[in-house]
Amino acid sequence: MNRSEVLSSLKQNPNVSVLIIGGGINGIGAFRDLAVNDVDVLLVERGDFCAGASSASSHMAHGGIRYLENGEFRHVREAVQERNRLLQNAPHIVKPLPTTIPIFNRFSGLFNAPFKFLGMLNKPSERGSLVIKLGLMLYDAYSRAQGAQRVVPKHQFLSRSQSLEKWNQLNPRIVHTATYYDGAILSPERLAIELALDAEAYNPNAHALNYMDMVGGTEDTIILRDVLTDEPYDVHPKLVINAAGSWIDFANRKLGLSTRFIGGTKGSHIVLKHDELRNAIGDHEFYFENSDGRLVLIFPLFDRVLVGTTDIPVENPDEARCTDDEADYFLEMILRVFPGLSLSRDNIVFRYSGVRPLPHSSAKTTSQVSRDHSIEVVSGDWTNLTYPIYSLVGGKWTSFRALAEQVTDKALAHLGLPRQKDTRALPIGGGRGYPGDLTELKRQVESLSAWTGVTRERLRVLFERYGSRAESIATYMNGGTDFALRSMPDASRREIIFLVLHEKIIHLDDFLLRRSMLAMLGNVTREMIDELAGVFSNALGWDAQQRAAEVARTLSILEDRHGVRL
Ligand SMILES: Cc1cc2nc3c(=O)[nH]c(=O)nc-3n(C[C@H](O)[C@H](O)[C@H](O)COP(=O)(O)OP(=O)(O)OC[C@H]3O[C@@H](n4cnc5c(N)ncnc54)[C@H](O)[C@@H]3O)c2cc1C
Repeated sequence: MNRSEVLSSLKQNPNVSVLIIGGGINGIGAFRDLAVNDVDVLLVERGDFCAGASSASSHMAHGGIRYLENGEFRHVREAVQERNRLLQNAPHIVKPLPTTIPIFNRFSGLFNAPFKFLGMLNKPSERGSLVIKLGLMLYDAYSRAQGAQRVVPKHQFLSRSQSLEKWNQLNPRIVHTATYYDGAILSPERLAIELALDAEAYNPNAHALNYMDMVGGTEDTIILRDVLTDEPYDVHPKLVINAAGSWIDFANRKLGLSTRFIGGTKGSHIVLKHDELRNAIGDHEFYFENSDGRLVLIFPLFDRVLVGTTDIPVENPDEARCTDDEADYFLEMILRVFPGLSLSRDNIVFRYSGVRPLPHSSAKTTSQVSRDHSIEVVSGDWTNLTYPIYSLVGGKWTSFRALAEQVTDKALAHLGLPRQKDTRALPIGGGRGYPGDLTELKRQVESLSAWTGVTRERLRVLFERYGSRAESIATYMNGGTDFALRSMPDASRREIIFLVLHEKIIHLDDFLLRRSMLAMLGNVTREMIDELAGVFSNALGWDAQQRAAEVARTLSILEDRHGVRL
């Protein structure tokens, strides 16, 4: 069903077993698990899917080695397992990521760690090689504990001279480097939309709507507002999952509940176009302590470099922006590790900020607030509502599946339904049937080229962007006259139209910011916006006024939220 068909069926029948509020990764994860278990479920997102924290991450599929020093062993173990599952279930988007820690002293932190476990040390402190070695041994052990097959290699220490030979721009003050493996989620927003599409394909009674706001609730009714038309819709759910991230308490308030589950912290990133820095890091992420003790990262994101992040308490998530001060902080911290480089704000091609939906906490520093997830249940005598509300608090992108599994188990128990299927080994979107090696990729590309007439070169690009969904896209491209776009010669008109028609794109910025990496990599031009607006107008029937409004909206979002002036 397309959007308007879902809306008219909602008017006819407002009953649904589960309503999910929020289309970030946690809402979408729960949506998929419920869908594959045959539950009729409606997900509503007031903006575009993944427009909140889920599009503001550091792109790491990771166990979170630093959480070991907070004593979060269960959480790290679970996240390492989920990292491994992501590498296996979404190999088109999640790739192994060698992560290198430059170490500037041998012993610091050794005596701090036990104090931290006991909650007696409040500020971050420098970690020396011995502490890092112990942490990495534990991390490796968690990786191995999952089963016979090791998904990523073990960690490795390099001496100072070996390190400087490998990374010749590295600060010569280092005493060692340590390299371990995590995963890179190269385009998290694509992974999320593919999950949502999978869910709808499994279950005809599962629907996800973007631009649909939850605006209020009474005893047995939730009121939604179509953001595109302002029209209200009633829904009668048996259960509500509040996956509104850092807006969870705001959403509960709309339902008449006064909760204080969230204590969000803002985190910002910048994306740099800087070939020397990109070459200096190679294919490694550098993960290290800045001089203030905060752990920060320099991450290879395609041909750009992603740098982050901060951790600042905020009250209103809508106001989070990456400020000039944060950008300068990032530029300075790069020089701690690569002191010979010359960097300035002119190298920044994109910036973003998001708010972590962390649990409300009395911890003395933000870094001590647990990154683990929990499900807060409000029901029964507490409220006059006929449905319970499960709020999904905290968590990480990496462990969305585990949180989804836990909330789905709870929901199934409430609905009196058995679990029919689990998602542990379920491939995601274009990860299904994705070629396991280059020989298989070549074979698939050749056979698809023969079948669709699309050149091998183009198909290789499609596989890189969309995994095995390349097959549907190439077949669609072959179904009509197609041509490369002037402003994006490595993309074609019908490729874009396929995405517009099949990936719930409503606005131009949905495509530029969340269905593709164009904006984040700093590749958007004014000419591209104008050309794409023309393609979208044909596909979606926009008139001249709507087209102009879309262009203006896109330019304004790029400037206001991402520091991109075109
Ligand atoms: C700076 C930063 C770096 C991070 N780095 C990593 C990392 O490298 N690896 C990792 O694993 N995790 C990382 N995380 C954590 C991870 O990104 C988040 O935990 C996760 O994305 C939270 O997802 P969510 O679905 O709960 O929230 P969100 O993605 O914020 O989704 C909530 C959604 O609810 C919607 N909503 C709110 N109110 C309503 C309403 N009334 N009606 C309808 N919809 C509504 C919002 O529009 C929003 O889209 C990072 C987070 C941040 C902020």
